[in-house]
Amino acid sequence: MAEAAAIKNILDPALVLGFSNLREMRTVGPHRIAAGHGIYVTDTDGKDYIEGASCFYCSALGFSEEELVEAAVRQFRELPFYSSGLHRAVPAVMELAEKLRDLTPIKNAKIALGATGSEANDFLLKFVRAADRMTGRSGRWKVISRLRSYHGGTLATASMTGVPESHAQFGLPLPGFLHTHQPDYFNMALPGEDEAAFTARMLGDLRDLIEREGPETIACMVAEPVSLSAGLVPPPEGYWAGLQALLAEYGIRLFADEVITGFGRTGPMFGSETYGIDPECITLAKAMSGAYLPVSAVVMAPDFYDALELASDEAGGFTHAGTYAGHPVCAAVALRTIELFEERDILGHVARIAPRFAAGLAAFADHPLVGDTRSVGLCGAVEFVAAKAPRRAPQPEGILSKKFAAFAKDRGLIVRMPYNSVCLAPPLVITESEIDEMCARFGRALHDLEAWAAANPED
Ligand code: PMP
Repeated sequence: MAEAAAIKNILDPALVLGFSNLREMRTVGPHRIAAGHGIYVTDTDGKDYIEGASCFYCSALGFSEEELVEAAVRQFRELPFYSSGLHRAVPAVMELAEKLRDLTPIKNAKIALGATGSEANDFLLKFVRAADRMTGRSGRWKVISRLRSYHGGTLATASMTGVPESHAQFGLPLPGFLHTHQPDYFNMALPGEDEAAFTARMLGDLRDLIEREGPETIACMVAEPVSLSAGLVPPPEGYWAGLQALLAEYGIRLFADEVITGFGRTGPMFGSETYGIDPECITLAKAMSGAYLPVSAVVMAPDFYDALELASDEAGGFTHAGTYAGHPVCAAVALRTIELFEERDILGHVARIAPRFAAGLAAFADHPLVGDTRSVGLCGAVEFVAAKAPRRAPQPEGILSKKFAAFAKDRGLIVRMPYNSVCLAPPLVITESEIDEMCARFGRALHDLEAWAAANPED
């Protein structure tokens, strides 16, 4: 894959890269990915990688789906752009909203569209203010989310993101953003504490937070059904049922951020279905268009939407819009993506191959540096430990997962590495033999990591 001749500065590039060490970019420059095919991407040196994390957990249909290219081209030719707003709408955009209404577990939902996951979450945080104002809940302005969950990059969604280390750079969180535990049984359980007792403790801490802040000040809790940014932390026994009951007791709305878990990632179409969650609103993005173009959605329960309509009546109109809130070409590609999910029975495929994926990861469980392996649908994690018995976490946190990711890259596999875990979430179209190849590359990188750890014992 030839380097684009037009780039003058690979070192110290003009481009500011997110989630990167900016100083390092001056001397090392970014790894440049130039092409993609199936589950593979190719860098500018011509080396192939299995994209084990579907880039940012989004390329569900891989990197070379002609059907999506054609859907985009068709819409580009018909009407390349028109905003849906000001009492006008583009049919393809209306059709996408209808499709989402049919698909999502919220009955008779209303759908607002955006471009990115951050935008959908941000819109929802704005909408809930109107909905609460119109339903006698005006004093409720605070938002609860969970530590280590990622919800976006805007002021509000970065505040909602539960990563204190990334807040500090930007003077966040904004007031009113509260964070509760990620229910990480593997790392946070007390000695001898079983899952049910652990869940009770997590929910007890949440109850204390709500009581301390004043339940009448809290609008909603936003959570992913399962959080990959936190390292694929499985909900412990009784967690979701208990959490929903607790929020209901205090009249706090529950919203599911399904930006990653939507569209088959955990097996069923939505993570809310996988875990028996009944959210009032859901946000979607990423795999909704196979990530071929940016499009996102806020899916709202009818009562919630009715309150927005009342707010609109009061103000003489809905004072919310986005130029690209439902770009026609993005909508056409999202529609085709959803059709392909149906035509090709992608969920059936995930159900058939998920056991092979789970077994592939479980095979690493006995490795001396692996403390835990876990998976649901086509997302999985391997969590590293410095020692197994007694268990010791790597020091500093993340050192083994970061080293592993570098070895994996050498071995032709791209992974994400939250905290002490490495996450895999390959394109949903991955085949059994490709899962085997991915796991083989993983195993080689693990071997490299073991050699490195032996040569670099902790002090
Ligand atoms: N929510 C979750 C759970 C995410 O993982 C992300 C992106 N990684 C977002 C929201 C934000 O989406 P975007 O990057 O498209 O703004």
